[in-house]
Amino acid sequence: MASTKNERTFIMVKPDGVQRGVVGHVIHRFEQRGYKLVALKMLQAPRALLESHYEEHKGKKFYEILLAYIGSGPVVAMVWEGLTAVSVGRKMLGATDPAKSEPGTIRGDFGIVTGRNIVHGSDSEASAKREIALWFKPDEISQWTHTAEQWIY
Ligand code: ADP
Ligand code: MG
Repeated sequence: MASTKNERTFIMVKPDGVQRGVVGHVIHRFEQRGYKLVALKMLQAPRALLESHYEEHKGKKFYEILLAYIGSGPVVAMVWEGLTAVSVGRKMLGATDPAKSEPGTIRGDFGIVTGRNIVHGSDSEASAKREIALWFKPDEISQWTHTAEQWIY
């Protein structure tokens, strides 16, 4: 039976986050919170992948700018697992607009404008499932035992 601790979310450090040297901070925050890293890779995303990933925004004014931004350099794609990983992950990211993000959130600590907001995080469990399947093959996701788990839950 799948445990609620197995909820997974897709987190991506965007090209500005990579260039700004924030990859380690993002990983550290999720590790520190108690989440389990189960997949990670760096890639420069092809346009077709970004079109699928951002299909809900197709036709919006910022769509082409967004695709150019995310495709402009390598990103770090990750899957993090744990209880309420999706909703807590979004809180850890902060608001879409970093200027409106609380200090202490990733966007609130590292960004200023929406067009350079450092990280992506799935907005629902359904989005997480869809995004994880887009970015990772099943065999790229590791099952491993988090030895500290009994001290987290
Ligand atoms: P989130 O990433 O917080 O889920 P959205 O799904 O609304 O936010 O938008 C996806 C991404 O598109 C944002 O993270 C941001 O990079 C970009 N974006 C959204 N709105 C704008 C905008 N008005 N101008 C430029 N980029 C935008
Ligand atoms: Mg979104």
